[in-house]
Amino acid sequence: MNQPNGSYLNKRLLRLQVGFLLSAGPGTCRAFPLNIPQRLQVHEDLFVEALAGEFVLTRAKDGILLQSKLKISHLRECDRCLESFEYRFALDIAELFALPSLAGKSVFCVDGNGEIDLAPLLREEVLIEASYRAVCRDDCRGLSAETGDKLSAESDWAAARRAKAEAGAIDPRMAVLKQLLV
Ligand SMILES: [Zn+2]
Repeated sequence: MNQPNGSYLNKRLLRLQVGFLLSAGPGTCRAFPLNIPQRLQVHEDLFVEALAGEFVLTRAKDGILLQSKLKISHLRECDRCLESFEYRFALDIAELFALPSLAGKSVFCVDGNGEIDLAPLLREEVLIEASYRAVCRDDCRGLSAETGDKLSAESDWAAARRAKAEAGAIDPRMAVLKQLLV
């Protein structure tokens, strides 16, 4: 997983106070934007580089329904060249956070202080996303089977030049031809 590099925001930012919705009647809903354009720690082993979107919280009978469309960016390894790159993806979330009295019956729940913690949910979603293949760019060519170096148009030219130079040095007929051409 990616390591912290410089400063980052605390995952406490991902705790939302929903007490006001608990005391409101079912169906009450509240929408708000969330925009964190900086590195944020989601878990000891997980950081996201940016997070933006909107949350809609609705008081349901058994808890708080969280619905969200998010754009997340995080560092991951390219499946072809193994280099780290910033990967962006969109995430649709619809999750019920059960009432504190129903804790234990649901994976996610509102805690005793009337707060919900988005960090475990986000971590789960990001890890699922990270388990799919992704490449740093569509035309990433990966690594050379011979040298282990990253392949690119430039490396192709270099390899072609090397092959030409070697051929020139090895093949005496080429040398003769070269002399004739001078
Ligand atoms: Zn790559």
